[in-house]
Amino acid sequence: MINITFPDNSVRQYESGVTPLDIAKSLSEGLARNVLSAKVNGTMWDAMRPVDEDATIQLFTWDDPEGKATFWHSSAHLMAEAIEALYKGVKFGIGPAVDAGFYYDIDTGDITLTEADLVAIEKKMLELAREKQSFERVDVSKAEALKYFNEKGDEYKVELISELEDGTITYYKCGAFTDLCRGPHIPNTSVIKAVKLTSLAGAYWRGDEKRKQLTRVYGITFPKQKELDEYLVLLEEAKKRDHRKLGRELELFMFSDTVGKGLPIWLPKGTELRLRLQEYLTKIQKEYGYEQVITPHIGGKQLYVTSGHWDHYGEDSFRPITTPEEGEEYLLKPMNCPHHCMIFKWKPRSYKDLPLRCAEFGTVYRYEQSGELHGLTRVRSFTQDDAHIFCRPDQVKEEFIRVMEIIEIIFKALDFKNFEAQISLRDPNDHEKYVGTDENWAKAEAAIQEACAEKGLPAHVEYGEAAFYGPKLDFMVKDALGRKWQLGTIQVDYNLPERFDLSYIGADNEKHRPVMVHRAPFGSMERFVAVLLEHCAGEFPLWLAPDQVIILPVSEKYLDFAKNLQSYLKKSDIRALIDERNEKIGRKIRDAEMKKYPYMLIVGEKEEAENQVSVRKHGQVDLGTMSTDDFAALIRKQVEEEQNKR
Ligand SMILES: [Zn+2]
Ligand SMILES: [Zn+2]
Repeated sequence: MINITFPDNSVRQYESGVTPLDIAKSLSEGLARNVLSAKVNGTMWDAMRPVDEDATIQLFTWDDPEGKATFWHSSAHLMAEAIEALYKGVKFGIGPAVDAGFYYDIDTGDITLTEADLVAIEKKMLELAREKQSFERVDVSKAEALKYFNEKGDEYKVELISELEDGTITYYKCGAFTDLCRGPHIPNTSVIKAVKLTSLAGAYWRGDEKRKQLTRVYGITFPKQKELDEYLVLLEEAKKRDHRKLGRELELFMFSDTVGKGLPIWLPKGTELRLRLQEYLTKIQKEYGYEQVITPHIGGKQLYVTSGHWDHYGEDSFRPITTPEEGEEYLLKPMNCPHHCMIFKWKPRSYKDLPLRCAEFGTVYRYEQSGELHGLTRVRSFTQDDAHIFCRPDQVKEEFIRVMEIIEIIFKALDFKNFEAQISLRDPNDHEKYVGTDENWAKAEAAIQEACAEKGLPAHVEYGEAAFYGPKLDFMVKDALGRKWQLGTIQVDYNLPERFDLSYIGADNEKHRPVMVHRAPFGSMERFVAVLLEHCAGEFPLWLAPDQVIILPVSEKYLDFAKNLQSYLKKSDIRALIDERNEKIGRKIRDAEMKKYPYMLIVGEKEEAENQVSVRKHGQVDLGTMSTDDFAALIRKQVEEEQNKR
């Protein structure tokens, strides 16, 4: 008999060789019907794979991210099986699950796959799925595996196998298709009830531009047709909200290959939006005791040798810049932390000076492969809403609470109603690989969990996910379409204070190491604006809208009045533009409604004579006429309300 420990720490005994599926059956029939995979002693495991030693177990269904990943990765095998059945001689690269669905990289030889092929492949996949094919796990020797794929003529698998260690190699067989794979897989294909192959793309083998370009087929599968239907509706809506599309339409930002790939250029309206966000955050940070600093975009190489960044990332990042005369080496800064450490070190610090909170909208530069670049979410230069808090170990909890409050204030002002946190802690079985004392780790880990509990923030804990230098808390928001985005992070760091030999004088007159906390509520301005755009579909809250008001003169005669009105509003810090086109007023109103300007001001003879405006709010609400002063007051009041949903 073996002891199986469940996530709630309860223990049950089973015969050795029991499978997770058997264990699920012993708990409930419903669970047994739905179990897709498991985690056994920390390793992902097939539902049908025997367990023959004492173990901790977690069972996964479609409702768990791990269950979905198993479902989708298994679907990638099923797709490969279908493709192999339809097109002879194709070769396969890799086929992982992704956030939503899966892909497989395929060398299709002389065949070019088209949209029509995708439909045929979908049909074949469903046909094979209905055969209830099981996934069979087989241990093979390296020699056997090489022989099999050499005979099959799949040089991609041969290359992958030759890099593996003998004794660790497994196949998964599903129907007529055998794949090199670590698993785990679903018990059989019958649970795959709905299939959609979503797109085709080119992908270099192993991401290397010098190697062959394969065809990447993306797809997604579901256990119910209804779920696929709902997903497709969501996908349509997501396309309309794509931040790259909206960014172009609303003239917020641009990219230029001449300037450089992945280097976003903020246009006037986008800059307006970004500055509003920065001003707002700066204002709140001041309330919370932050001090703003500015540091250069480059730093001496030694700074990053000391910080450890050079050893870690140096080879995979932008090359150093050198001076012509002295041969000095500088790096484009990949992060702001080392600069801020030097600010801390600049003068002696006492325990009474702590916490020191250094904030900077710091632009950093990180090399990303050109194929990885994506809109504003994967770029080579971005500006972090960064800050570093240097504090005493006993202040960590209070500082976490304060950062969480800042994040809450901002998310509320931006209408993100759903947010949650992930807490990343040490691997409980291996304390060796972390820097910092056990005592400080325990203190900080408890502090983070207590801070979440006190703030009532829903949080789940991931053991073993902490960086080697400290535990962290990540914020996730759910956008209007229910998609989860990871934004802000609060990260404890015991490493940099050590490397930079930072200290303060304690109440005992002795030297002590401060704890460093990195935090960025938005993450980066670029990523945040992308998420915000997709969340609100370009309909920003009034306080952020680059154009808050559009003035619609009923004819050219009232253009002067409109211009005076515009400059009056500008003085009141209200952003207004004028529709100067020679169009009928009805047309101008319809167009303004389409472009989602929060307010329209209609001006004609009566308005000019009485220095008034006729006000329409976006969404067809007629607010009647009012004096220009009253209108300005109305806008100010709404902005204030939006910014203070605390
Ligand atoms: Zn697999
Ligand atoms: Zn940092």
